[in-house]
Amino acid sequence: MLVLATDCLQDNRKRGAGKRPELKVLLAAPRGFCAGVRRAIDAVEDALAVHGPPVYVRRPIVHNLQVVRALEAQGAIFVEELDQVPTGSVVLFSAHGVSPEVSRDALRRKLTAFDAVCPLVSKVHREVERHVRDGRRVVLIGHKGHPEIEGTLGHVTGQAAYVINSVDEVDDLALADDQPVAYAVQTTYSADEAAAIIEALRKRFNDLAEPVSSDICYATTNRQNAVRAVAGRADAMIVAGEHFSSNACRLAEVASELCTSVQLVAGPEGLDWSLLPRHGVVGITAAASTPDSTVQSILEALGGRYEIGIEEVETSRESTVFKRLGVS
Ligand code: SF4
Repeated sequence: MLVLATDCLQDNRKRGAGKRPELKVLLAAPRGFCAGVRRAIDAVEDALAVHGPPVYVRRPIVHNLQVVRALEAQGAIFVEELDQVPTGSVVLFSAHGVSPEVSRDALRRKLTAFDAVCPLVSKVHREVERHVRDGRRVVLIGHKGHPEIEGTLGHVTGQAAYVINSVDEVDDLALADDQPVAYAVQTTYSADEAAAIIEALRKRFNDLAEPVSSDICYATTNRQNAVRAVAGRADAMIVAGEHFSSNACRLAEVASELCTSVQLVAGPEGLDWSLLPRHGVVGITAAASTPDSTVQSILEALGGRYEIGIEEVETSRESTVFKRLGVS
């Protein structure tokens, strides 16, 4: 949706913006909301419509403050743990997924719980459960403490937890080389970093079970490919997203491999203008949890200082839509 950007150009002309420096903006596509994020946000809105406010949400439904604030304005109350939810209330779990223990806790507390976990995270849960049943030790490639990894760990029952985040940690795993092992990957992990760690696991373990298809989801893969196509042509990159979003951080890391000036910002107010070129090319992308309105407001801010021309760089098209979560 480039309507606002076009408006910026027209406004610039009206204001005699010919004197402004010219800036070419490369917009990575795809960018922004993925199917799992849309489904999770829809679930909260549907629950508010069906049950009426307040509806409680355990942890940020997706990792974006603007989304959280907008849902709060409609009557959602975000909590860290279920002991903050009054008995008998409606509660939703975030798109990142939860441990089965959280669902059991909701039952004990007599809460009406709906799990807005992304189906692609659920797929990883089912995989690790199968590996546990097959008697394999499960190694998770991901970021310790991230809610998705915490939730997935809850599905790895009856054995020690192994979470690794680097090739070096493969050697440190306290497992025999001939132990039956399986791995799973955080859906928002860097594809390149995962590939290096997986290669090290293959070299170390004789009996390694792998996912049938990559655990890194289509949205992460597509956004990382798109940012790569843009960052190599840009003097500076802007990644729209939160610092606590894994997806956003990985996009910034991928961009940094190809571009020396990369800013990860939640919105235009976070921009460091000194890092943008006086003339030249700026690339923009947005994490899977970032609303399109954030990109539009960044374009508007750029349009206030530059005469901008926009090129959308599309590396793939997405048509994935997940079935709405039933919340009645
Ligand atoms: S980033 Fe991937 S795994 Fe996460 S919600 Fe989106 S589609 Fe699902």
